[in-house]
Amino acid sequence: MNRKEACVDIRTSSRMVSVDEALSAVLSVVNVLGCQRKPLLKCLGQVLAEDIVAPFDVPPFDNSAMDGYAVRADDIMSATRETPAFLRVIGEASAGQFSDVRVQPGTAVRIMTGALLPEGADTVVPFECTSELGCEARPWVGEEIGIFTSLPPGANVRRAGEDMRNGELVIRRGTSLRAAHVGVLASIGHRTVPVIRRPVVGILATGNELVAPGQALLRGKIYNSNSYSLSAQVIECGGIPRLLGIALDEAGQLSKAVRAGLECDLLITSGGVSVGDYDVVKQVLAMEGEISFWTVRMKPGKPLAFGIFRRQDGSAVPHLGLPGNPVSSMITFEVFARPTILKMMGATNLARPRIVAVMEDALMNKDHRRIFARVMVNKRGGKYFARLTGPQGSGILTSMVKANGIAVIPETAAKVEPGDSVEVIMLSMDSI
Ligand code: AMP
Ligand code: MG
Repeated sequence: MNRKEACVDIRTSSRMVSVDEALSAVLSVVNVLGCQRKPLLKCLGQVLAEDIVAPFDVPPFDNSAMDGYAVRADDIMSATRETPAFLRVIGEASAGQFSDVRVQPGTAVRIMTGALLPEGADTVVPFECTSELGCEARPWVGEEIGIFTSLPPGANVRRAGEDMRNGELVIRRGTSLRAAHVGVLASIGHRTVPVIRRPVVGILATGNELVAPGQALLRGKIYNSNSYSLSAQVIECGGIPRLLGIALDEAGQLSKAVRAGLECDLLITSGGVSVGDYDVVKQVLAMEGEISFWTVRMKPGKPLAFGIFRRQDGSAVPHLGLPGNPVSSMITFEVFARPTILKMMGATNLARPRIVAVMEDALMNKDHRRIFARVMVNKRGGKYFARLTGPQGSGILTSMVKANGIAVIPETAAKVEPGDSVEVIMLSMDSI
């Protein structure tokens, strides 16, 4: 695509594309970002950039899984409550301490959970199975302890390396890091982690009618909500939003604002790309970058601009021009920008979880677009049901607030009737 083609696209009607065509075109120009080392607690939700191998056994030594007595299984083979095995206590082992005391035949070491298992011992007998339980005083070193049960070798012992073996691949590169991964990384001594960096996403609103929240709302003006819903969506999927403000529908200001966004990894604009419009936003986008204007067969959110801007050094900044209507902008973000950001972050799964639900409302699909309907899903009798969240107009932002899912009505379906099965992209499973 070059500048000329982009201009042709504006003058003629915008090119008609399917959702899938548009998405694969977008993803095909987007690359995984570089790697950075980050403090362990700052990497949650980011994708690991290198394989992590255990540098030693975890746990690093055999240790006790119980509070009790470290013994030799051979010494307690015939122990019962009626005929206890009496062993001489030769020392104590507590967690974090090293003692070179050795358990010889006929002896035991009083041991706490997590303490290194003394040489010679192979089994730990919990206090509950010894004469210590119910006694006023515990035995001193040199006194005897009665063992009331036999146990096999290895009982109540955590073996060195039973969690991770020295040299074992424990977390594969490409893994999205969750709390448990952070714990595993800490348990093998990592203070920093190599991860794919989060993309900085520039968000630019366009429109003479827009006013920033906090400013007075003169007649004819509306608050810029898109910059905020889009920024929140960027945060939700792991990116870092950079608010670039509001650009008036005026060439000079718009191109300045677009250029200010070129330091970002991805630039998202909202507004000014509607079908049929030959407005200044489209002209400026086409002048500043290699941009195509599409009519995507979807509802809401038909118009979409996509392409790249070039920085002075020639490097490319992908650009998504989303429609201005608040619901359209959120839905097109969900469909196109979210997977783009996830791909930049190195994620392998770019899709949200989907379920199949029984639709409880009717929907018409007269012009064979893919409809993304805002629904509230609930579960009854083991089945999912989806109900529209109310009027579906692309300006009714509250329809998004009530939705925990987006029902996807395929282009091929002329209508959906109550009782039909639909696929639903789940935005949240919390309220089900
Ligand atoms: P446009 O795509 O620029 O033609 O805008 C379509 C509709 O969305 C118009 O009613 C705009 O006022 C509205 N709109 C555009 N941008 C925003 C925004 N940032 N916040 C809220 N509404 C917007
Ligand atoms: Mg506009």
